[in-house]
Amino acid sequence: QQEIFLKRQPRSAELVEEASRYLAGGATSSWQIAKPQAVWMSHGAGSKVYDVDGNEYVDMHGGYGASIAGHAHPAIVAAVSDRVRRGTHFAQPTEDAIWVGRELSRRFGLPLWRFGNSGTESTMDAIHLMRAVTGRDMYLKLEGGYHGHHDSVQVSVMPAAEEIGSRERPNRVTANGGIPRAITDLAVIVPFNDLSAVERALVEHRCRIAGMILEPVMMNAGIIPPDPGYLDGLRTLLHRHGALLTFDEVKTGFTTGPGGATARYGVVPDIVCLAKALGGGISVAAIGGTAEVMGAIVDGRYEQVGTFNGNPLAMAAARATLAEVLTDETYGRLDRLASSLQQQMEQTVADAGVRWNVVSVGAKGCVIFKPERVRDFRDFLGVDDRYSHAHWLVQHNGGAFLPPWGKVEQWLLSAQHDQADIDLFARNFRTFVAAVSR
Ligand code: PMP
Repeated sequence: QQEIFLKRQPRSAELVEEASRYLAGGATSSWQIAKPQAVWMSHGAGSKVYDVDGNEYVDMHGGYGASIAGHAHPAIVAAVSDRVRRGTHFAQPTEDAIWVGRELSRRFGLPLWRFGNSGTESTMDAIHLMRAVTGRDMYLKLEGGYHGHHDSVQVSVMPAAEEIGSRERPNRVTANGGIPRAITDLAVIVPFNDLSAVERALVEHRCRIAGMILEPVMMNAGIIPPDPGYLDGLRTLLHRHGALLTFDEVKTGFTTGPGGATARYGVVPDIVCLAKALGGGISVAAIGGTAEVMGAIVDGRYEQVGTFNGNPLAMAAARATLAEVLTDETYGRLDRLASSLQQQMEQTVADAGVRWNVVSVGAKGCVIFKPERVRDFRDFLGVDDRYSHAHWLVQHNGGAFLPPWGKVEQWLLSAQHDQADIDLFARNFRTFVAAVSR
């Protein structure tokens, strides 16, 4: 499969070579560097993307969860083109921002909003806000949770089995070069789906924990849904200890439903972080909060700032995405496609007698190459890495584009996918399963 892959990508190979002279590592982001080589893209249309070698793919990568509108959606093209003609940056608000804020309030049940440019910024603002409101410095974070690349959240993101320590007292492991050890004094690490661990931490660090940040559906370890009562239980526990709850919905925000996991599970946190899909392919982020939390911004205890915050182009794109693409009708269609895909893949797994889990939540899905249900990051560590890469290659050579980090990343359906796209992906999966279970 690797040979086939390389044969299909001669122009990408040339560009990787040329790029390595001007771009560090030959790519524009470290996670774009992939084995056997990065795929260089030319354009996208609807549910498809096209690489520089002219190969067409059904896009299941979804731009790491951002492309739920699909590519070049006419409504977004029109809104963005119109805005480009009228100027794209003033560092002053434009009316679209009010429309977007009102719509996010309606969908997520939180009254006040601010904007930024990336998921990293929104989770950074969330942690700053939790501290500014409570006057406390420490915070709870999930083992295996990814929230971007600023210091506070670069702790125990993808710790290796030999460095994680005991379940009761997980090690706090810095996740990247340049992250100071000192930050681990402030981060307290807990496993997902474990309320008693959170309670223990809150008691042990009494009156020092500002709050907790987590993805309400964990999506950095395959896809792990919350146990019934977990999210609600977290809110109750944290509030009892004077601490706040932040849902990082950067990935789950518009992929699990129109109002994210917040609406899907009916638990409204103190802060919601959004990014990725909100801009329909243009970079934009948002942070929403209760009147109490956002009061810290209103009265200046926390200055939430940024040159490009509420950028007119981003606001126009977000408005068109929410108003015209991510509608209830779209979510109805996405649900039907997702359940067709889930059904086909489960059937394949059952027919082959392999015991893997196909997990999907809304428009997102993944295969967990493990027989047991995964409830937290430690369970996820036992998932076999080799299958993911092989699956990625088979899908790729069969015309479906998935993120290159199979063990962690998932597929995403878009508003422009159709049954034929789903069937192609399911067919490739059958080819892959037949090959590995032979
Ligand atoms: N939070 C979550 C849950 C994410 O998945 C990501 C990106 N994968 C981020 C935050 C960071 O977003 P960005 O890459 O836009 O900074």
